Amino acid sequence: MTKPHIKLFIPGPVEVSEDTFQAMSQPMIGHRGSGFQDLYAAIQPKLRQVLYTKNPVFLSTSSAWGVMEASVRNLVAKKVLNCCCGAFSDKWLDVSQRCGKQAEALKVEWGQPILPEMVDAKLKTGQFDAITLVHNETSTGLMNPLAEIAQVVKKYPDVMFVVDCVSSMTALKIDTDALGIDVLLAGVQKAWAMPPGLAVFAVSDRALKRAETIPARGYYFDFLEFKANHDKNMTPSTPSIPHIYGLNFKLDQFAKEGLDNRYARHRKMAQKTRDWAKANGFELFPKAGYESVTLTCVKNNKNIDVSKLQKALKDKYKVLIDGGYGPIKGKSFRLAHMGDETPETVGQLHTMLDDCLKSL
Ligand SMILES: *Cc1c(COP(=O)(O)O)cnc(C)c1O
Repeated sequence: MTKPHIKLFIPGPVEVSEDTFQAMSQPMIGHRGSGFQDLYAAIQPKLRQVLYTKNPVFLSTSSAWGVMEASVRNLVAKKVLNCCCGAFSDKWLDVSQRCGKQAEALKVEWGQPILPEMVDAKLKTGQFDAITLVHNETSTGLMNPLAEIAQVVKKYPDVMFVVDCVSSMTALKIDTDALGIDVLLAGVQKAWAMPPGLAVFAVSDRALKRAETIPARGYYFDFLEFKANHDKNMTPSTPSIPHIYGLNFKLDQFAKEGLDNRYARHRKMAQKTRDWAKANGFELFPKAGYESVTLTCVKNNKNIDVSKLQKALKDKYKVLIDGGYGPIKGKSFRLAHMGDETPETVGQLHTMLDDCLKSL
């Protein structure tokens, strides 16, 4: 007997549509042949449009962490400043150190944003040649003020600006080139609404120049290997070709919806979810004004039994929500509203939540 499908409202992986799976299930082609090169070339202008960049957009068959680690390995000679405000951004410091790099944390409490003046104070010391920022900190449901931070980083031309947009890419406009972002990266299992296994990243000329000066970049994630193969419309090693078919399909879907409509849909879903939380007497975990557009991290100020709520939703409605990340497990819960979800499907989740909260 096949198990009933449990619909995902966790912040990644998210629900994947039938037509996306269908688009991915096409006959295999060789990754060194013209069929693949045509596919790769066809995707590039669409990717550059969605990422607002003239830079090449590379495709890595890995999760996002592959590219997060790669950015440190390819770009840091002196010292990297890792902005830490939650589980993913905190971990990046650890990863930098594991790569044998000099690294320092700019650390704020979970739920608090990284502010431009904090970044300025650190970069002013002249110690750093790279900075990592998680735009949308998925563990706390917080979105950092990317544009304001970008203005500060621009004052320091030797500092490479690496931005994780894993859970925000495609949900709001991220103007890569105007913001001076050297590496913009994401995995496709979040707002792209694809199965996990592929990461997308845009790399600036400056960053490629820097990579040329860095020894021990390795092979699999060497930016210069990506660039050399990109110039032939290929990837360094055999990629997940089904994902690339899927990416092409998704990009066409985004164009059909219109990017501005897509962003407006995400704003609506976020507002509706914040309103739902407040109407039910909950507070939001992140500092006011910095709430994420793709997920809502609800503070459990009512002290409900979060695991019981999760179980009730799963048993009765076959939907899965997240019960809080790491140290804030049970003290918060997270509702994702990204990818292919709509204000209607998000509203349905709220109705299910209302019903299950009553029965706790
Ligand atoms: C999910 C996530 C990651 C990690 O992605 P993987 O695909 O598991 O490597 C990194 N950063 C953020 C902000 C995320 O949400």
